[in-house]
Amino acid sequence: MQSLKELYKIVNGPSSSHTSGPKRAAEKFKSLHPDADRFKVILYGSLAKTGKGHLTDYIIKETLKGSKVEVLFDTKFRCDVHPNTFDIFAYKKGELIDMWRVYSIGGGSYRVEGEPKLAAKQVYKQKSFMQIRRYCESNNMDLFDYVCEVEGKEETIRFLTEIWKTMEEAILRGLNTTGVLPGRLKLQRKAKEVYEKKPVLNDENANKIRLLSSYAYAVGEENASGGIIVTAPTCGASGVVPAALYYMKQKYKIPDEKIIKALAVAGVIGNVVKTNASVSGAECGCQAEIGTACSMAAGAVAYLLGLSLERIDNSAEVAMEHHLGLTCDPVYGYVQIPCIERNAVAAVRAIDAALLSSMITEDNRVTFDMVVETMYETGKDLSTHYRETSEGGLAKKYCNNKFQI
Ligand code: SF4
Repeated sequence: MQSLKELYKIVNGPSSSHTSGPKRAAEKFKSLHPDADRFKVILYGSLAKTGKGHLTDYIIKETLKGSKVEVLFDTKFRCDVHPNTFDIFAYKKGELIDMWRVYSIGGGSYRVEGEPKLAAKQVYKQKSFMQIRRYCESNNMDLFDYVCEVEGKEETIRFLTEIWKTMEEAILRGLNTTGVLPGRLKLQRKAKEVYEKKPVLNDENANKIRLLSSYAYAVGEENASGGIIVTAPTCGASGVVPAALYYMKQKYKIPDEKIIKALAVAGVIGNVVKTNASVSGAECGCQAEIGTACSMAAGAVAYLLGLSLERIDNSAEVAMEHHLGLTCDPVYGYVQIPCIERNAVAAVRAIDAALLSSMITEDNRVTFDMVVETMYETGKDLSTHYRETSEGGLAKKYCNNKFQI
């Protein structure tokens, strides 16, 4: 597994695979060709179909500006390697000097054709959650100790402190901003309204849903506006982990030092999915994004509740299992409907999954690793209509005017 720094990235929204990944690849390519006077980029697959709504062409032009830049959308070519594929060409005085085929593999990471799949440095020896569990149990350590052993304690705390600060800032900005989100949906921001709403039921559960949802909306709306957020594991699903942890912090007065440890736990869970399956909606549907975020948050909450490694495994499993098959069908290609609300629902589910797991402590038949493998296979079986192409599901139905309000 790679460093947690490859999972948690501080980026501008709205999409890790459609904006962050292409941006990072274009930056690197440009740095290798400082003397190029023209760049051409051809977007394929999901990038071509929903790139406009996700601002892919905008971010590429911004990154490469200073030279002439042309961005083309090829919706016909289907790449068998990855649905988020693009070609980037550099020219000097009319001559082609280099080209890359790039796969934006999710969470802001990318791979250049010809590079081995796991070219990025693998810093963790263990690959599966069970291997990690066994290692921690036999060395009498928790998941935070495990991350510190591999990545260094001081550096882990420094890095995760910065990540947590960015997550909290996104929540607070989102809660204090009103107005309309960018794009043709003209959606009103709702985080502040939800936060200030008096629930129809005056009980603790309704209040929990109000708070968790408002935090998740806050980050989701910041993301949809191109604001700074943390990929956890992606931009589209970036509200789930911060919402769950911020709620736990506020409700139970948990110090930041402990929240940072929980972030390490969530990071290990996200890393297991990224290593053994996918966190890309274009590759495996929303189960890979929101499902993974829910598992990360559930595991982190279980850790904060003082549950064992076995229960953390189970909490993450429960969270993912009930997202299996979840499709990715963003309306008009914007990371807004259903994405923002989905973050809120998943944040609530994450806490419920950890609590449920704390109550069922015997005879679990399904492990987290098993459900991750299932998610990957299910994702591969999903029609491309349901993998970030906006060709099916809600995206298609919404365009049928008869259903619009
Ligand atoms: S539906 Fe899910 S996977 Fe698709 S863009 Fe929205 S958050 Fe990402």
